[in-house]
Amino acid sequence: MKREWLFDEEHEMFRESTRRWVATEVAPFADEWEEKGEFPIDLYRKAGELGFFAGALPEEYGGVGGDFRYHVVFSEELALSRSYGVSAGLGLHGFIALPPLANFGTDELKERYLAPGIRGEIVGALGVTEPDAGSDVGGLRTKAVRDGDHFVINGAKTFITNGVRADFHIVACKTDPDKGHRGISQIIVDKGTPGFTVSRKLDKLGWRASDTAELSFEDVRVPVGNLLGRENNGFYQIMHGFQAERLGMAVGSVAAAQHCFDITLKYAKERRIFGKPMGNFQINRHKFADMLTWIEAARRLCYHTIHLYVNGMECAKEIAMCKVFACEKAVEIADMCIQLHGGYGYMMEYEVQRIWRDQRIQPIGGGTSEVQKEIIGKLLGLGD
Ligand SMILES: Cc1cc2nc3c(=O)[nH]c(=O)nc-3n(C[C@H](O)[C@H](O)[C@H](O)COP(=O)(O)OP(=O)(O)OC[C@H]3O[C@@H](n4cnc5c(N)ncnc54)[C@H](O)[C@@H]3O)c2cc1C
Repeated sequence: MKREWLFDEEHEMFRESTRRWVATEVAPFADEWEEKGEFPIDLYRKAGELGFFAGALPEEYGGVGGDFRYHVVFSEELALSRSYGVSAGLGLHGFIALPPLANFGTDELKERYLAPGIRGEIVGALGVTEPDAGSDVGGLRTKAVRDGDHFVINGAKTFITNGVRADFHIVACKTDPDKGHRGISQIIVDKGTPGFTVSRKLDKLGWRASDTAELSFEDVRVPVGNLLGRENNGFYQIMHGFQAERLGMAVGSVAAAQHCFDITLKYAKERRIFGKPMGNFQINRHKFADMLTWIEAARRLCYHTIHLYVNGMECAKEIAMCKVFACEKAVEIADMCIQLHGGYGYMMEYEVQRIWRDQRIQPIGGGTSEVQKEIIGKLLGLGD
C-alpha cells in the first residue's frame, strides 16, 4: 500500500530524483552559500536541465503537463537542503514567476519567458509588494501610463525575492489608479531596461542564500506586448497565484517542521542529562508528542486541501487555514527544538537555529497570518 494517498507513482519517482539531487548538489554546499548570502546562479540552469520546474507546466513549452503535486514534492524535498534560501530562490522562479506566464501569457510571452524559464536559462521574479503597500495589494502605487505602443512605469517595489539577479520581473502596476484594486495590471520588465534599477540588496534574518531586493522604476518604457493577461485584471491574477504560493509555503513549512523534529528527536535520545537521555524527561516527551501531532495535523490539512485544489474544487478557506496553521506551527516547533537543544541550539553550527530563522518569514510572506484569518472570517460571512 502507498504510504501517502495523495501522490501517484510519477510524483514518487520525481521525489526520488529531487531527493538525490538535493543530497548531492545542494545540502553539502548549503553552509557555504548561507554564509556567503548567495547560491550560484548556475543552480537554476542545473535544476531546469533536470526538469525540476517542468512538472506542472505545459508540454508545448517544455513542461511535463502534470499538476501542482510536482510543486508540492519539490517544496517538501527542498526542506532537506539545509538552505531555505535556495528553496526560496528556486521556488519563487519555478512555482511563482513561471505559472502566471503559463496561465495568462500570450504565445509570444510564453516563447520568450516560459520556455527558457522552464529550462532554467533565465530567472524570474514577481514584484507586488511596495514600501507602502504589502498586505494591501489594492493600495500599490507603482504606475504604468500608456504612451503609444509602450507603458511608462514609475514607482518602487520592495522585498522582491530573486530581485537582484532575475532576468525578468512580473511587476504589478496601477494602469487605472481611480479603480483601486480593479485598476492593476501585471507587466513584464526585463533586466537592463533603462530606468529600471536594483536600488538595494536587502540583508535579512533568514533565507540568507536567497537574494531579496528593493527595485526602482523611473520612466521605464516597456512595449505593450509585455502586458501579462488583460489590462486591469492584475489583482485577480495575483490572487490566483497566491493560492498556489500559500499552499506551497504551507507544505514547505510542514516538511521543515518534520525535519527539525527529526533532528531534535535524535538529539534527545543521544544527549544525556542527570544520567538519562534528555528526551526521557516527561516534560520533554510531551513536547515531542505535541510537535508530532501538530505536524501530522498540518500535513493532513495540507494534503486534503491540495486534493481539492488539483481537482478544481473551491478551497480558498482551506488554503488560508493551511497557511496560518502550518506556517505558525513550524515557527513554534523550531523554537521548541532550540529549547530542547539547550545552549547548542543557539549556536550557528546547529541546524535548528537556521530552521527557526528561515521559518520566521513563513507567517509573514505571501500574505500574513492576520490577512489569512481575515480571508477565513470573510468567507464565513463575517465581512464588513
Ligand atoms: C524575505 C521576504 C521575501 C519576500 N518576497 C516577496 C516577493 O518575491 N514578491 C513580493 O511581491 N513580495 C515579497 N515579500 C513581501 C511579503 O509578501 C510582505 O512582506 C507581506 O505580504 C506583508 O506585507 P508588509 O511587509 O508590507 O506588512 P504590512 O502589510 O505593513 O503589515 C504589517 C502588520 O499589519 C498586519 N495587518 C495587515 N493587514 C491587516 C488586517 N487587515 N487586519 C489585521 N492586521 C493586518 C500584518 O499582518 C502585519 O502583522 C517578501 C517578504 C519577505 C520578508
